[in-house]
Amino acid sequence: MDLQFTTEELAFRDEVRAFLKDKLPEELAHKVKNGLRLTKQDMERWHAILNERGWLANHWPEQYGGPGWSAVQKFIFEHECALAGTPRIVPFGLSMLGPVLIKYGNEQQKNYWLPRILNGADWWCQGYSEPGSGSDLASVKTTAVRDGDHYIVNGQKTWTTLGHHANMIFCLVRTNKEVKAQAGISFLLIDMNTPGVEVRPIITLDGEHEVNEVFFTDVKVPVENLVGEENKGWTYAKYLLTYERTNIAGVGFSVAGLEKLKVVADRVQCNGKPLSQDPLFAARLAKVEIDLENMKTTNLRVIAAVAGGGVPGAESSMLKIKGTEIRQELLSLTRRAMGPYAAPFIEEALHAGYSEPAIGDEAAASAAASYFNYRKLSIFGGSNEIQKNIISKMILGL
Ligand SMILES: Cc1cc2nc3c(=O)[nH]c(=O)nc-3n(C[C@H](O)[C@H](O)[C@H](O)COP(=O)(O)OP(=O)(O)OC[C@H]3O[C@@H](n4cnc5c(N)ncnc54)[C@H](O)[C@@H]3O)c2cc1C
Repeated sequence: MDLQFTTEELAFRDEVRAFLKDKLPEELAHKVKNGLRLTKQDMERWHAILNERGWLANHWPEQYGGPGWSAVQKFIFEHECALAGTPRIVPFGLSMLGPVLIKYGNEQQKNYWLPRILNGADWWCQGYSEPGSGSDLASVKTTAVRDGDHYIVNGQKTWTTLGHHANMIFCLVRTNKEVKAQAGISFLLIDMNTPGVEVRPIITLDGEHEVNEVFFTDVKVPVENLVGEENKGWTYAKYLLTYERTNIAGVGFSVAGLEKLKVVADRVQCNGKPLSQDPLFAARLAKVEIDLENMKTTNLRVIAAVAGGGVPGAESSMLKIKGTEIRQELLSLTRRAMGPYAAPFIEEALHAGYSEPAIGDEAAASAAASYFNYRKLSIFGGSNEIQKNIISKMILGL
């Protein structure tokens, strides 16, 4: 694979840079670069800016609103966004449900739901996990029983990220209890404003409200909200997960994280020298940088395969494991580099930031909080242990 950019690709990179310089609001970039809290409005604002330019759904086919980019253009875009400090795009509609609807949804569903994902009319969340059904996802117990033109849904989902912002949830529901677990699951779109849906917050150890429990009591869902065929939901669920995992790998986040870490390691003093010159620290930094360079290539391979009509398969599991290990190592090194400055968890600082001269800027405000929060990376989207099981089955045939 030729990793040199062509003249056209370099011109595209300049176009992206100019767009980001012009359109990325400074206050959003400041928050992202310093790890400060983003509000729902912040995320919606960046979503709308990208949509206006036609650069939001960059992995969707052109006929549904994708920009028609090559794999390299997608890579360049992601890379430049990370360096500029753009907010993350909330993935549930765009990167998870969108590809499922495009592949398995009927025309009516595509025509109705896809434009609403793009224009931000719906905020989606993911109703896969349940108490007792995480790694063993096929054991989901939430039921959907057909009653005329509706399904009646009863059960509970958990760990629902940003469910408190969402008006729609895509759910795995059990429609047949008599068959093998995987053969009795359906994929249902549920309006969260329907009577019988209740969202309860889960407050995590760091005081954050990011995840929720969602309860369904006799919730009436129109049958037209079934995606694909009844009892075939497991196929769609797995397809969605490959996109989710590729997304979690977050190459762009790591590129930006490495840049930030290098700046800090040059500023912080250790035995009278910059920490970046400490042999042990420098060795860890070099290792993570090499891993990241390798992962960029794997990421390009996966993007190229998808652009060529393929589906990210076991590669998405490889990317998820390596990508999350790199992200966690970068956060760990950043926290170590900041030493005692990273220790306090100051709620207000996560909104407003604080300036620490020894570190520079406001980066220390979020170092400890990010370190702890991102332990989740190796758990959600299917834990890294589960990804190893998938790789051993799909590649090694074990
Ligand atoms: C912050 C956060 C956000 C999340 N957001 C969402 C969301 O928006 N929507 C959603 O549906 N879910 C979400 N999840 C749920 C997530 O997908 C599950 O937590 C994950 O799949 C693990 O399931 P579990 O928590 O039930 O752990 P368990 O399945 O109980 O696993 C516990 C431990 O055992 C290991 N283990 C289990 N089975 C095996 C095996 N066969 N081989 C080897 N090791 C094994 C696991 O790796 C893990 O270390 C989120 C989770 C977190 C932490």
